[in-house]
Amino acid sequence: CGIVGYVGARDATQLLLEGLHRLEYRGYDSAGIAVAGAGLHLVKTAGRVADLRRVVPDDVAGTVGIAHTRWATHGEPTDRNAHPHVAGRIAIVHNGVFENSERLRRQLTEDGVALASDTDSEVLAHLVARSTAATLEDAVREALGQVEGTYGVIVMDADRPGELVAARRGSPVVLGVGEHEMLVASDVTALVRFTQQVIYLDDDELATVTADGYRTSTMDARSTTKSPTSIDVPS
Ligand code: GLU
Repeated sequence: CGIVGYVGARDATQLLLEGLHRLEYRGYDSAGIAVAGAGLHLVKTAGRVADLRRVVPDDVAGTVGIAHTRWATHGEPTDRNAHPHVAGRIAIVHNGVFENSERLRRQLTEDGVALASDTDSEVLAHLVARSTAATLEDAVREALGQVEGTYGVIVMDADRPGELVAARRGSPVVLGVGEHEMLVASDVTALVRFTQQVIYLDDDELATVTADGYRTSTMDARSTTKSPTSIDVPS
């Protein structure tokens, strides 16, 4: 239902919780965050952002992370089905529906992967983790080539805590350009408090974001050129 990502120099946890709070008006049944610092910290729960805030330990430190509010389509609204979903060092958040998830879940299971949730979304984490591509962006591109359906996604690799990869097909994704920090969200309301410079991804477009910039490209790996536009929304 809602996604937020952050990479920069600030405490990602507080910033992501604030972003999720701003997305609450859209409605949701679960919430969660993953932050990369020393390792990968994952906290998720059925319920409200306030419930998530209560269960986030004080020592979840890191300057890159992703967060989600879920409106369940595949799998009950439970703690384990809440996003982010993790496979090894990879964490993902997903808005939308992967139509061929049953087949992908079956294939992964046959390959010996233990699935931790009943969602359609979790397959993406495993597909990215299993990719042998040299960059996270190419791994995400390869994984998204195997899914059918709609998505707004953000992917994080705890071993490469300086970047996030985002992509969209049929579900909005907007980048927020700050001073030595970048945000990603499904809705400008999540980031307007932090920056007014935004870039809307097009369908079938991917973005790699780091604290100091962004790079966009198509699903078939052609670079695209986008410049930020200014939004004028009261924060
Ligand atoms: N289809 C996914 C799920 O049920 C994502 C739902 C959403 O967009 O929040 O977990």
